[in-house]
Parts: sequence; structure tokens; C-alpha cells
Amino acid sequence: MNVVALARPTARPEQPVTAAAPVAELLVEGVRYRYPNKSEALAGIDLRLGPGVLGLLGPNGAGKSTLMRILATLARPSSGRVLWNGVDVAREPNALRASLGYLPQDFGVYPALTAGEFLAYLAAVKGLSGANASARVERCLAEVGLSDAADRRLGDFSGGMRQRVGIAQALLNDPQLLIVDEPTVGLDPEERQRFRHLITDLAGARLIILSTHIVSDVEASATALAVMDKGRLLFDGTPGELIERARHCTWEWRVAESEVAGARAAHTISQSARVPGGVLLRVIAARAPSADATPANPDLEDAYLWLLASRAAP
Ligand code: ADP
Repeated sequence: MNVVALARPTARPEQPVTAAAPVAELLVEGVRYRYPNKSEALAGIDLRLGPGVLGLLGPNGAGKSTLMRILATLARPSSGRVLWNGVDVAREPNALRASLGYLPQDFGVYPALTAGEFLAYLAAVKGLSGANASARVERCLAEVGLSDAADRRLGDFSGGMRQRVGIAQALLNDPQLLIVDEPTVGLDPEERQRFRHLITDLAGARLIILSTHIVSDVEASATALAVMDKGRLLFDGTPGELIERARHCTWEWRVAESEVAGARAAHTISQSARVPGGVLLRVIAARAPSADATPANPDLEDAYLWLLASRAAP
């Protein structure tokens, strides 16, 4: 069980959930992190972030959660620093905590409590009380589409509903910075889709950082993208800029079913679909995999694979 209660007591009545004050800036400068007796989990990360949704993409083990924990002031960088509106958060963590909502990867709930009780409890932990707390709980439940489930026990919730409760608790203090770590793990496709819409709706003037290894989690919502691998930043820019990089490296290639295994062994394949007379492959490669392959317009998934593949190339 991991009940998160990070925000310093705040008492701001009548603050609508989606109307956070304009966020200034989150600056990550040369951040490195090493777990005891391990190689570096972060090997020097630099980012400058403003309002919008940052999709933080990377394969498992890339260092995303480690970075999220540092940004959420739960861990300190081994070197480098994080500045929130110019203030070093290692020195003054409360400056950021007052503006922070965090949904960690291993968010746990008390199954015997109702959603309303659970949020009221966390509101109290965060320093909200009385009518103000009740109003915030109601607003946050409404914001995540759970008003009708306020009196139901969390033990009876689906995974997607539980994640929405996780977002609701992160919104209690009307955060300017919302950090969401791998939120769609274990969700079914419909819940996953709903969760993506929720993130888009919540963006507004705040900065949302959403880490995931699934490109489609951030495809619709991300205004900025950072791609990590092995503790390093491979890309920092807009989704459109990443797609541009794969412009001449995406191909459609129809092969016979018997050729699919060979094609998979020889190339990076982003998608495959059965078509009359064979299988249509999307191949990510600098050169056409075959004379009968045709150039295709890359999407974000193609571009992400291209980035990882070019990184892996000797
Ligand atoms: P991601 O979130 O992208 O999957 P993590 O930040 O969890 O990546 O992990 C980055 C690296 O740090 C991995 O090599 C992982 O094995 C290592 N790591 C993560 N947590 C710990 C820990 N508590 N102790 C030691 N090593 C860890």
C-alpha cells in the first residue's frame, strides 16, 4: 500500500480543479542518479518544461520512474539540480510540493473505504478541512468522472476507476505540476482510452508529466515529448519533430506469410496486418527493405521505434 500525501497544507477555497494558475517553469539541469551498488539510473538529464503535457517515453528500465521520483521530491539527484520557478527543489522541496500532484506507479487504495471517504482522508492529510475539503473532494471526483461512484467501496472498483481515484487525489491541492507515472499499466483498452481523454482534459494551464512505455498513451495528448533510454535523453522536442525524423525511414511492404518471420528477424517492424494474399508490414529502416516496398508517412509509433533503432545501431 502506498498512500501518497505530498502536498503541503493548502487552503484555497473556490479554486476550480482545471484552473490552476499559470505554471512558470520546471528546469532539470544535468541530473544524475545512482542507486547504491548499481550503475547510473540517470546519466545526465537536461529538460526545460512549461505548461502542457510532456509525454516521457522510454522502454522499461530507461530511468523514467527514477526521474519522476526526483521531480516529485521523493529522491535527490546524485548530482545536478531541479529548479521549480527558479527555486532548487532539493533545498526547498516545499516550494514544489505545494504545487505538486503525484500519481506513482504503485498507487494503492484502502479497499474498505468508499471513494469519497478515501479522498476526504487524503484531503485531511493534505491540510484541507471542513466545507472546503468536502467541496474539493466533490470537484475532484467530478473531474475524473466518478461522482456517481463516491459512495462505492474502492475494493469494488475496476483498475481504471482506481487510477481515476489516483488522479483525483493528485488534484486535491489544485496542482500546477501533475506527475503521472505509467498510469495505464493493467488497464483494459476502453479504460486506457478513457484515461487518455482525462489527461487531455486536465492539461489547461498546468504542466502534466506522463511517463509511459506505450506510445499511444501520449499520442493524442502530448504537446512535448522526451524519450529516454538507459538513463539518457534520446530526444527532447515536439511529437511533430520526432515524426519528421522518421520521414524517409518508414515503408509498407507486402510479403507472403512464409516470409514474415524472416522479415521480422531482419528489420524493425512497427505494425503488421493480414491482407489478401499475405501480410502488410510497416518497416522502419533507412533504406527500402525490398524493391517492392513503398514509402509511408510515419506516425509517432514509427518515429519512436526509429529513434530507438538508430540508437541501438552500432
Ligand atoms: P523505468 O521507470 O523507465 O522503467 P526505472 O527508473 O524504474 O526505469 O529504472 C532505471 C534503472 O534503475 C533500471 O536499471 C533499474 O533496474 C534501476 N532501479 C530502479 N529502481 C531501483 C532500486 N530501488 N534499486 C536499485 N536499482 C533500481
